[in-house]
Amino acid sequence: MRNRTAFAVCLGFLALAPLGLLAVDEKTSRRIDQEIEKARPEIIKIRRFIHMNPELSNREYETAKLVASKLMSLGLEVKTGVARTGVVALLRGGQPGPTVAIRADMDALPIQEATSVPFKSLNPGVMHACGHDVHTSVALGAAMVLVNVKDRIKGNIKFIFQPAEEGAPQGEEGGAELMIREGVLENPTVGAIFGFHVWPENIGQAYFSTGNIMAGADSFEIQIKGRSAHGARPHEGVDAIVLAAEVITSLQSVISRTVDPTDPAVLTVGKIAGGTRSNIIAEKVTLEGTVRALSDINRKKIPQLIESVVKGITQAFGGTSSLDYRQSNPPVFNHPELGETMLPTLVGVLGKDKVLPLPPQMVAEDFSYYAQKIPGFFFFLGVKAPGQAAAAPLHNPNFLPDERSIPVGIKLMCHLALDALEKQNPPEADPSGP
Ligand SMILES: [Zn+2]
Ligand SMILES: [Zn+2]
Repeated sequence: MRNRTAFAVCLGFLALAPLGLLAVDEKTSRRIDQEIEKARPEIIKIRRFIHMNPELSNREYETAKLVASKLMSLGLEVKTGVARTGVVALLRGGQPGPTVAIRADMDALPIQEATSVPFKSLNPGVMHACGHDVHTSVALGAAMVLVNVKDRIKGNIKFIFQPAEEGAPQGEEGGAELMIREGVLENPTVGAIFGFHVWPENIGQAYFSTGNIMAGADSFEIQIKGRSAHGARPHEGVDAIVLAAEVITSLQSVISRTVDPTDPAVLTVGKIAGGTRSNIIAEKVTLEGTVRALSDINRKKIPQLIESVVKGITQAFGGTSSLDYRQSNPPVFNHPELGETMLPTLVGVLGKDKVLPLPPQMVAEDFSYYAQKIPGFFFFLGVKAPGQAAAAPLHNPNFLPDERSIPVGIKLMCHLALDALEKQNPPEADPSGP
């Protein structure tokens, strides 16, 4: 019963679509709606199964198996074991044309789920707290639908199910970067890529802006070395804890005093460890932190500033230091031309008032690697039930995207892929002329 009510409401979200903005004809649009209806019970079941059986980055064995077997049953050309557990499938359309890709990520997080849904995680300490279960289900659902409108597809659609978006375990490679290195954007060459992230805002809404929409994310570890002495005789030692305190305070000024305030950047020291006991001057302190920045200027400048602050302060008081700065995901860049071309599709599916701009977010996404290579289009999909006061944020043990957002996501991905190919292949001009 619960489901039937939920699905009826869901239809309401989709019924608002003004078809004029979509590039595909009305008949195909109606067919897509029917196919989503048909696929929905199965895809909801799949989503619940994935949510119940979350797997950590680079360990998405069962998720990948399920995804691959479903794609194979649809008759797609399926490749498994890409970048360890990734799955890639190709749907060849009935008409010749270029190739576009739909990308989803499959990994979960090391969080103990605190929701009370009947399909809560069965894997202790592991949870789909970033909504990748929804991303995977939407991409799989889009494959189930698009395979049934194959004749209408002017080119190919590649489905990319990627592991380790949250970051590979230490000492391992993984995620989008490795997928690209293993050729996911080749054979056939992918011309544009589409992806989305669930967002704790109302279902039926999407958020999109062009340019850098998510930050680059880097991490650092600073080692500060002093010299231990008796706590009552600090002049005989070099206090690494006092040096660390100075360093942390000065690092805040790197952002507030040296970075252009109109170009957002964040520096957070999230971990500090050092010292042995209350009456010993600490010899060593380790600081760990993250830097988020949108522009290349800041991504270059901030590590240099950190280095000079750390060196300057430790040297001034007789200590030594080392900085291990690791550049990670670049910012997610939405290609302006592709954005302009495809925005009418978002509006066409959801309605004009339901597609909203979003200021750049300082969280990161490794979709950025694809969007560095080819034009990318990344949006945020509302997954909060209407009337629900506030949804738990991403990476929270109570995060629970409403599954009525899944058909909305499927419809968006189907239309984005179809319209992108359609717009690359404008209908031939009528030779008889006007
Ligand atoms: Zn995440
Ligand atoms: Zn995520």
